[in-house]
Amino acid sequence: MHNWLSQDIVEVLESVWANEERGSSAVEEISQEAKTEVTEDLLAECEREGYLTRNGGGEIRLTALGRQTAGEIIRRHRLAERLVVDVLGMTLEESEADACEFEHFLAQGVTSAICTLLGHPRFCPHNHPIPEGECCRQIEAQVNSLVASIDRLEVGEEAKVAYVSASNFPRIRKLSSFGITPGVPIKVKQKFPSFVIQCDETQIALENDIARDIYVWRKSNDNQ
Ligand SMILES: [Zn+2]
Ligand SMILES: [Zn+2]
Repeated sequence: MHNWLSQDIVEVLESVWANEERGSSAVEEISQEAKTEVTEDLLAECEREGYLTRNGGGEIRLTALGRQTAGEIIRRHRLAERLVVDVLGMTLEESEADACEFEHFLAQGVTSAICTLLGHPRFCPHNHPIPEGECCRQIEAQVNSLVASIDRLEVGEEAKVAYVSASNFPRIRKLSSFGITPGVPIKVKQKFPSFVIQCDETQIALENDIARDIYVWRKSNDNQ
């Protein structure tokens, strides 16, 4: 693994990744997406370093190395966005960071700690998927999360809504019409046969996959 990459290469890898998410591998779109000028030299350098391949038709694809490297950068970038929004309580604009700077908010070594703190979020505030890390696949890690999806809470546990995962905008609107918005205290009333939470005076029954989309700040685990 490279510990250091030029910002230009990072930009290209992030752009190719984002483009692949949209199902495109066209070089023009990568140039548009990147926050740096994508020159022939730069692409040739990325190719030489083994991060991507190009074919005659102007298509660019990540190699296995490129995929791994870009995935880690994208993961840090999107987790940092979540950190800014959920923990610092700022909008991404208020943070005054350029879009290309977010990955620098997190040192590589603390990524899994931050991911755990945030409850292994699956989407960034822009609704883009966060690549899974090793921590997300280890169930024990979930126990120590300060932020967790509410299906992980015990009956009787109280918490405060941190955010609703942005996987589904109509769902977010619906939940917010029930009063489930960031900062609101909730309590788990029942987990089986259906999931019921109390939010203000209202009891709300939720399907399990919806419960998994609601992330909350847990109180300390001392009293459990
Ligand atoms: Zn984002
Ligand atoms: Zn994780």
